[in-house]
Amino acid sequence: MPALSFTPAVGDLPFTPKQRSLLALANELGRTRFAPRAAQWDESASFPFANYDDLREAGLLRLCVPESHGGLGADFATYMMVAAEIGRFCGATALTWNMHICSTMWTGVLADGIPMTDAQRAEHAKRRELHFARIVNDGAIYAQPFSEGSAAAAGRAPFGTTAKKVDGGWLINGRKIFASLSGAADYYGVLCTEDKGDEHPDARDTLYIAVPATSAGFTISGEWNPLGMRGTVSRNLVFKDVFVSDDEQLMPRGIYFKGAQTWPAMFFTLAPTYLGIANAAYDFTVQYLRGEVPGEPPVKRRQYPTKQIAVAQMRIQLEAMKSLFGRAIAEARPNPGKDEKLRLYAAHYSVMEGANDIARLAIRTCGGQSMMKHLPLERLYRDSRCGSLMLPWTAELILDRMGRETLYEAGERDE
Ligand SMILES: Cc1cc2nc3c(=O)[nH]c(=O)nc-3n(C[C@H](O)[C@H](O)[C@H](O)COP(=O)(O)OP(=O)(O)OC[C@H]3O[C@@H](n4cnc5c(N)ncnc54)[C@H](O)[C@@H]3O)c2cc1C
Repeated sequence: MPALSFTPAVGDLPFTPKQRSLLALANELGRTRFAPRAAQWDESASFPFANYDDLREAGLLRLCVPESHGGLGADFATYMMVAAEIGRFCGATALTWNMHICSTMWTGVLADGIPMTDAQRAEHAKRRELHFARIVNDGAIYAQPFSEGSAAAAGRAPFGTTAKKVDGGWLINGRKIFASLSGAADYYGVLCTEDKGDEHPDARDTLYIAVPATSAGFTISGEWNPLGMRGTVSRNLVFKDVFVSDDEQLMPRGIYFKGAQTWPAMFFTLAPTYLGIANAAYDFTVQYLRGEVPGEPPVKRRQYPTKQIAVAQMRIQLEAMKSLFGRAIAEARPNPGKDEKLRLYAAHYSVMEGANDIARLAIRTCGGQSMMKHLPLERLYRDSRCGSLMLPWTAELILDRMGRETLYEAGERDE
């Protein structure tokens, strides 16, 4: 496998041949297809369907489906590298693709690392076969709507959306907000609490269930006109007595809760989109200050020491983000040690806050003309703002967890 002709958004890491070939594919698709279309989804706040046709054709909708089930069998680290490369060219595509990929990674490589009984393992193996086949054979798209506007998506309360066991399946009731891929997904992988009829909802009874878009009682509502990440089309979902069959269960009862505790890195998958955006803002700044942006007057601004210093600051921050990111994806595993977990939080925080810092510095340094809508910088700035708002690991909640988990060992309390 020849060396790459570009530096990937994750930096130069010791890639495997498979990683190099997937990165080359993502870079080619991103540069030639996604980047030229990015302004269009942003302007109309519409879903990037054309990019999904390209992802499907390139096999990237089944990136993390195991090879034994017809997928490309990418592991966690490989997904994170490829996602950063896509985020470099279209943030909304990378972020929504993350929701889809997670539905295959959680049920695939991550589930393999979660303790289950033999019966649960067998049930899961049977059900995920159906779910993988939909993606591999039909090119189906999955969304991942968890948020409800309550403390549930922050991991601090049971989900208000409920699933009640009925003959042959589940009856789902509730409401989700911010469901990326609204109207574009074929299946919505919802997190909900099992309604056991005892009026005592418990987060340990969280269920992860796919709701087909065609289900009776399922509706999409609400306006979508946000500051950034406009192509994600993240509207509200309402479930009113929606029946889904037992086979739609994406994890056996009780396993999601265990998974969230076993595999904290599952929440890190939102970060590569924003590492990609940070790279894009940096790349643009270098090109702009050199007077080399296609279609723009060849005015050089690189000769001013203050601009040189700003570029150096951006590079230093970007290198720090990439280093932490690379380390965190290399050591991601079930049941990480305390230092690994704290480093994972630090990586997430650095990328989510850093992406917006770099986009802000890029605009300040390039100057007023760089803010025009025909250039990508103002979109990168707006898109980058959304990262640290995403639950469960908002910038605030990361600080909260890091401080507490540094100063208290598990189970420790003050008198
Ligand atoms: C572009 C975009 C796309 C998105 N796509 C999806 C998606 O596909 N699926 C999905 O599930 N979600 C998605 N989200 C939602 C996202 O993950 C958050 O749930 C959402 O941004 C939270 O908004 P909020 O106003 O409810 O936040 P907040 O009000 O900040 O948080 C909601 C609740 O969480 C708790 N909480 C928040 N911060 C703290 C704190 N510091 N300490 C204690 N408790 C706290 C509180 O109970 C609070 O009421 C998306 C968001 C954006 C911006």
